[in-house]
Amino acid sequence: MPVPKRKTSKSRRDMRQSTKFIRPQAVATCKQCNEPTLPHQVCVECGYYKGRKVINTKNERGMQRMQTRTAAAQRAAEKNKSGAHDDHGHSHDDGHDHSAHE
Ligand SMILES: [Zn+2]
Repeated sequence: MPVPKRKTSKSRRDMRQSTKFIRPQAVATCKQCNEPTLPHQVCVECGYYKGRKVINTKNERGMQRMQTRTAAAQRAAEKNKSGAHDDHGHSHDDGHDHSAHE
């Protein structure tokens, strides 16, 4: 019959026991915005960790997307403006066709 070669040390025994019981989820509070967060993890609300900005939040990413989109739209509008100067009649015709479709 197989037998353990060594006695289980207190350390090993206690480490095993540490997974035996249900404990409440550890909760920390963000020092930046006082929102509840998980310990040792970046705050989802403000993107801060250890008093330093680490990631962009979902809102900020949305804002950035909006800004890049508007910038692209402006660039496209400027391009269209200069393009319309070249052949005005063609661009006008295009717009009319599109509205008729819908
Ligand atoms: Zn925060």
